[in-house]
Amino acid sequence: MKFSTALTVASIFSTASAFTPSSLRTPVSVATSLNAVSKKDSYDITLLPGDGIGPEITEATKKVLQVLCKRQGFTMNLNEALIGGCAIDAANDPFPQESLDQCLASDSVLLACIGGYKWDANPRELRPETGLLKMRKEMGLFANLRPAKVIDQLIDASTLKREVVEGVDVMVVRELTGDVYFGEPKGIDVINGERVGYNNMIYSESEIERIARVAGDVASKRGGKLCSVDKANVLDVSQLWRDVVTDVISKDFSDVELSHMYVDNCAMQLIRWPKQFDTIVCGNIFGDILSDEASMLVGSLGMLPSASIGESGPGVFEPIHGSAPDIAGENKANPLAMILSAAMMLKYDLDRPAEALLLEEAVEAVLEKGLRTADIKQDGDGCELIGCVEMGEAIAELVESMEIKDVVAV
Ligand code: NAD
Repeated sequence: MKFSTALTVASIFSTASAFTPSSLRTPVSVATSLNAVSKKDSYDITLLPGDGIGPEITEATKKVLQVLCKRQGFTMNLNEALIGGCAIDAANDPFPQESLDQCLASDSVLLACIGGYKWDANPRELRPETGLLKMRKEMGLFANLRPAKVIDQLIDASTLKREVVEGVDVMVVRELTGDVYFGEPKGIDVINGERVGYNNMIYSESEIERIARVAGDVASKRGGKLCSVDKANVLDVSQLWRDVVTDVISKDFSDVELSHMYVDNCAMQLIRWPKQFDTIVCGNIFGDILSDEASMLVGSLGMLPSASIGESGPGVFEPIHGSAPDIAGENKANPLAMILSAAMMLKYDLDRPAEALLLEEAVEAVLEKGLRTADIKQDGDGCELIGCVEMGEAIAELVESMEIKDVVAV
C-alpha cells in the first residue's frame, strides 16, 4: 500500500458518510491511495472463519459478498484457511505456514474471530492469540485502524448520555508492531534478592514516521484533524514520537491540523467530550487501551470493524469482537461488524469504494427497518429480534436492491 494525500475519502470512516440519512448525501469522494491492489474484475480473498461464532458470521458475510459481486459484475474467489483454535486442532499450530502463504498470495484477508475456552489453558505457543500475533508480524501489519462511529439507530446502546455520544465519529490509528510489547530487553530477573520485571518502551524514527504517514493520510480524508497521543512530559520515547509526528505532518500533510495530547488526558477527554476528536494516532500500548475505550462509546461490540495494514501487500480486515463462545452455534451472533469489515476491505484494499458504501448503507438500512440481533436489541424498542442467518439474508436482499451512490475520486 502506498500513502499519499492526493485523494479524499468519505464513508464509514468519514464525518459525512454512512449512517447519515441517505437523503442528505451527495456523491462522495473516496480514497484509493491505501489500496493493496487497483480495481479489477477478479480478486483472491482469504477468509479466516476462526472459532466460536466465526463460522456463522463468515457464512452470513459470504452470502452478502456473493450478492454484491453478482450485482456489480466482479468476482471474489473466497478461499478459507485456518487460524486460531481450529488451526491448533487441525495442525497443532495457531497460524500454520500454509495459512500464511495463502494470505500473502491473496489480494486481501477477511478474518472473523479466534479463541475459546477449549484452548485457554494451552501453553503460549499453542494459544489462538499467538496465531494472531504471528499473522500481524509475518504480514508486516504495522497500522491498525479502528473507527468508532455512533450509529443514530443504536444510540441508546451507549452507556453515555445521548448529547455526549450523538454524532461521534472517531478513528483511532494504532501502531501495531512496536513499543513496549515487542521491545528488548525484557524479562523477569532476580536482582538484590528480589524478582524484577522489565520491558522496554522503544520506537525508532522510521517506525514513528510510517505510522504518522498513515495517520496523516487517514485524517486528510476525514475531518482533517489529527490528535497525536503520547506521554512526552515523562517519557523520552514519547518526546521522539512527538517530534517525528510533528515533522511528518507539517512537511507532508499541510491540510491536516495536528494537535498533541497526553495519554491520561486523552482517556478522560474521550469520555468527557468525544466529539472533539476526528483522528487519533498513538503507539501500540496507548492505542490498545484508547481504541477499546473509544469503541465503547458506540456501545455494541457486534457493530465494530477494524483494519490492519502494512506498507505493501494484503491487509487484514476483522471485527473487533472475540469469538463469543457463550453464544456460538446458536444463531444469535451479530454479523454486522464482519460485514462492515468487508466494507473496509473493499475500500482500503480492493479499490471498490462504491461497493464499500453500498454495504455500509445496507447496514444503516437494515437498522432503519427495525431488524436487530439480540446484542443490539433493547427492551421495548419495538424492533424485531432476528438471528445471524436472517440478518445476513436481510443485508443481502438490500445489497441486491438498493440504489448505488455515485462515488468519485478527486
Ligand atoms: P467477546 O468479544 O468474544 O465477547 C464479549 C461479549 O460480547 C460476549 O457476551 C459475547 O456474546 C458478546 N459478543 C461479542 N461479539 C458478538 C457478536 N458479533 N454478536 C453478538 N454478541 C457478541 O470477548 P471475550 O468473551 O472476552 O472473549 C472470548 C474469546 O474470544 C476469548 O478466547 C478471547 O481470547 C477471544 N478474543 C478474540 C479476539 C479476536 O479474534 N480478535 C478479540 C477478543 C477476544
